[in-house]
Amino acid sequence: MHDLHIHLGGAVPSAVLWETLRDNGLQTEFEDFTRFHESLTARPDEVKSLDDFLGRYFKVTEEIQSSPSAASVSAYQVVAKAYRRARISAIELRFNPMKRVRHGLHTMDAIILAVMQGLERASLHYGVATGIILSLGRDLPLEANWQVVEAAIKWRSRGALNGANGVVGIDMAGPESRSLEMSKPWLGEVATMMGKAREAGLKITYHVGESEGTGPEGMRRVIDAIRPDRIGHGIELRRAQGRERSALVSRLHDEGICLELCPTVNRVTRVVPDFAWLGPFVRELADHDLPFCINTDNPYLVHTNLRKEHEIVGRELGDDAGPLLELAVRHAERHRFLQ
Ligand SMILES: [Zn+2]
Repeated sequence: MHDLHIHLGGAVPSAVLWETLRDNGLQTEFEDFTRFHESLTARPDEVKSLDDFLGRYFKVTEEIQSSPSAASVSAYQVVAKAYRRARISAIELRFNPMKRVRHGLHTMDAIILAVMQGLERASLHYGVATGIILSLGRDLPLEANWQVVEAAIKWRSRGALNGANGVVGIDMAGPESRSLEMSKPWLGEVATMMGKAREAGLKITYHVGESEGTGPEGMRRVIDAIRPDRIGHGIELRRAQGRERSALVSRLHDEGICLELCPTVNRVTRVVPDFAWLGPFVRELADHDLPFCINTDNPYLVHTNLRKEHEIVGRELGDDAGPLLELAVRHAERHRFLQ
């Protein structure tokens, strides 16, 4: 099984982060491990929205991961845990290096190199193929995003070594509520920077259609402007009606874009109330021959793993589960960015 959508900021166990926090002597509000651990457990009854989820947890985890050694240890531990829990065979770990430089104290180069080294060790120790996706941020100025793209190009993979690929792609992440995809100038500039990344050999994935903040219209605009190889979530497709729906289905089909599904996090962020939508949605994707894969997104924060996510989808599919889960695995293998 491959996990192609997993964030460094939401995948590291609290014990590892606590050790890092204490070893580095960071001044925080957390006085003991129990309170720290509790504060890093996302529950649907506490999380108000996707924006709330992103703001509430990532600020803490990104702060702790803001040094080369912390970033390296974090990356290693993500792979180690994913392997132990779900026997993954490949992982594409995404993170925003700009959010780990501790206000300019470290360079992005040092952070990216440290994550690469952590993943090289993990690939070697666990026999898991690894790759890095650098995330841009909707919440960052365009200038900062240009710097992340330039770093991705500088550190792009030159081929795998013992399963470790280095930087294989870029992503857009962050709060959807500001509806930036509706702004032509903003999306135009993002399209230019992502085009540069593509020219340099990097692949593109894009968080869109995760919530009604971007919706089906945001998905259409991103597909037209960026032509991503994959889309993070894209589950707003289920809410499109009539001609908008059939147009979106044919664009996704014609471009061969793979939807990265991450069921548990959608429920925790209250984008959906439960999993009842999942069975009909996956069946529809398969009926229209639209590629999809199953992933964890933030496995530590929402307490899941890849095996669990497959079980959740399987349960909702009932009798169709076997062949459709196999299809998801095949799509992940075909649409992965790493070698
Ligand atoms: Zn995500």
